[in-house]
Amino acid sequence: MYYHIEFDIAAVFVTLFIMYYVIFKKGLRRHANRVFLILLLLHFVAEISDILASASSNDPYLTTRLIQNISNYTYLFSQNVLAFVFVVYLFYLLGYEKTRKFAFWLICIPIGAELVLLFSNPLHHGIFYYDETGKYLHGDLFFILYVFAIAYMVFAVYLSIFHSKALTRGKSTALLFFIFISFAPMIIQMILPEYLLTLFFETLGLMGILFTIENKDDIINPTTGILNRFALENALEDAMRSKGQTLISIKIPNLNYYNKMIGFENMNDILGRISDYLEKEFHSHSCYDCGRGHFAVLCDNISEEEIDRLQKKIFYRFEKAWGKGKFSLAFPVQFGVIHLPEDVKTMENLLMIIDASFDGKDSSVMDVSKMIMDYERRVLIERLIDKALKNQSFQVYYQPIWNFHTGKVQSAEALCRLIDDEYGFISPEEFIPVAEQNGTVLEIGKFVFEEVCRFYQEARLKELGISYVEVNLSVIQCMSRNLKETFDGILKKYSLDSGCINLEITESATVDNQKVLLNTIETLSNSGFTFSLDDYGTGYSNIAYMYDMPFTIIKIDKSILWKALHPEEGEGQRNAVIYLENTVRMLKDMNYSILVEGVETLEQKLLLEKLECDFLQGYYFSKPIQKQVFADYLKVVNA
Ligand code: C2E
Ligand code: MG
Ligand code: MG
Repeated sequence: MYYHIEFDIAAVFVTLFIMYYVIFKKGLRRHANRVFLILLLLHFVAEISDILASASSNDPYLTTRLIQNISNYTYLFSQNVLAFVFVVYLFYLLGYEKTRKFAFWLICIPIGAELVLLFSNPLHHGIFYYDETGKYLHGDLFFILYVFAIAYMVFAVYLSIFHSKALTRGKSTALLFFIFISFAPMIIQMILPEYLLTLFFETLGLMGILFTIENKDDIINPTTGILNRFALENALEDAMRSKGQTLISIKIPNLNYYNKMIGFENMNDILGRISDYLEKEFHSHSCYDCGRGHFAVLCDNISEEEIDRLQKKIFYRFEKAWGKGKFSLAFPVQFGVIHLPEDVKTMENLLMIIDASFDGKDSSVMDVSKMIMDYERRVLIERLIDKALKNQSFQVYYQPIWNFHTGKVQSAEALCRLIDDEYGFISPEEFIPVAEQNGTVLEIGKFVFEEVCRFYQEARLKELGISYVEVNLSVIQCMSRNLKETFDGILKKYSLDSGCINLEITESATVDNQKVLLNTIETLSNSGFTFSLDDYGTGYSNIAYMYDMPFTIIKIDKSILWKALHPEEGEGQRNAVIYLENTVRMLKDMNYSILVEGVETLEQKLLLEKLECDFLQGYYFSKPIQKQVFADYLKVVNA
């Protein structure tokens, strides 16, 4: 029989290309990746030896018997070991090499037996022999090699299908494709034995693995040329399933700010230097650039002393500037150590730690357990918000607002309450920011607005002396479309007009989203709503922003009152009193009505009355109370 070696030759070139790609392009430095390289090498050896063996079989005078023998043994060795290594590769992909050691040793048994059988062939000639003309022929025991190869492949199919949870769908498809494409030509070769298709098809299968599982283009960060967050995520999946790995997180703060300051190009140059530095310091471990100035290093079996040494070294290095000339900058750095998998329970927690931004001004060590605790609390709050929205169990409490001029309760602030059956009272200071971040504040805001309107109408609050109710408006609501339509719709439903609602907007909102906010306020104001500026004086006091906005009431934050006159501190600080007095005077001169919140004591009330503040709100008068209690309270105080 004359063997056609053209397919084998083509396969050699394709294999060389794959090997080039794996070796010279920066790859996934995972163990699985190294096993893939072994797979490629074995495949390459099989190709060369198959070409030599087939050529010498075509023409027995072409090579010596020794070369023919070597190529046959090498071919059979590499092809059979390949099936075994493929299963090992799967073990590494699934992360079983450390967790399922027994199974790992078990799969070594068949290949051990095969190799004994193969290399004892000169004694029994059961695998192959040559006839008188020097022609290569299979012996009686050759089928055993087939049986073992098929057994390995069946096991590989089983792992790729039934253990594919640890693999993405693309990965397990690529593996099945490899198995199928390696076996299909065997059938063709039974019919057309002279066409050596097996290795060519196997090469196509390896190519499939290269472009899916081992593809590097989507795992490299183009800025720094090191592995990216996606690659880290893949490696972490392995690390979470095994033991003894440590993730070191290294973050610089506020990348956007620095990008603006010195330009993207210069900042990218600095990031490149940082990543080079980290690669040098952590030379035997994999470094990742997760973007936004977040780097990570995945270390296999690193000692605490070594981590300590590296931490000191990195802090020391970051005290000095990066980059060159006028574009050199020194940053604070955050260094975090996460032992895997002990320190984190879930992959979600781990990714949160990697992604959480570092806002510090000084270099510091990450408090991993606190981050996890905060995150879990946040997740819990999100769950409780969803539950409360679903069960309509949010409540609205009312805190009376006293009119200094009339001596009556003229309005009230509506304050949202989340009281969970299991977790009790959750402060709005805690759940409102969470709701703002995940958008549920829109629903909460709508609920509160409707609840207030219903109560206003049902309890006939107007007749009880309440001119309007103050409703807190979140920035997120201000940025949402159709806010006016939503509010108008609700007012109509309860036959109310917008004059019965005064919307409170916090001072911080006016600084961050001025333009959008202004648009919303104007639209709502044209609809007849009035506005209060909440928390005035909490650090964002830029009076210029207020000019453009139609606020009627300014609510001076309780912290300003408390600084001036706190029950525990008695007399208060002279400067704080001066600040309060002048703030009130200035705002009055600007024709704003003044509301001071947080009035807890008689002294505070007297001081504010002396300053002729228009409205007072605080525990001295009443805490926020349930709606029915509030209605009853009004009947007494406003009688
Ligand atoms: P805020 O709008 O500044 O509301 C005033 C807060 O001060 C309320 O806290 C109130 O209970 C508290 N307070 C009033 N007088 C006193 C006092 O004399 N002593 C003390 N210690 N505290 C006093 P609360 O109800 O915990 O609400 C906190 C914040 O949560 C509110 O601050 C507001 O920003 C937000 N919030 C509450 N309900 C809603 C809502 O329905 N929507 C939105 N967007 N935010 C809300
Ligand atoms: Mg308020
Ligand atoms: Mg306030």
